[in-house]
Amino acid sequence: MSKCTTCGADRLPGATVCPVCGRFYSKIIELIAAEEADEERRSWRGRLKRIVGADDVKAALKNEVKVAIAGLNTKARFTLFVIFVFVFALVVTVL
Ligand SMILES: [Zn+2]
Repeated sequence: MSKCTTCGADRLPGATVCPVCGRFYSKIIELIAAEEADEERRSWRGRLKRIVGADDVKAALKNEVKVAIAGLNTKARFTLFVIFVFVFALVVTVL
């Protein structure tokens, strides 16, 4: 059985991360895991998880919306604006 190069703990067969020190055995697997974590962080599921898991849900929601809007380009912002105006106009005419 091989050992972890960082802490010397026995390496389990099939494991990608050292169970003792948390170090990845392979640089490629480490990169994939980092990419997955980043994707999860940017996805709506990840955002919802963060909002629900936060101590202050309202503040977390505000922050996530701010980040999401900042990540949009001008075209996407304009589209959202048009949708908002359309819905607003629809509601006003119905009332
Ligand atoms: Zn280790």
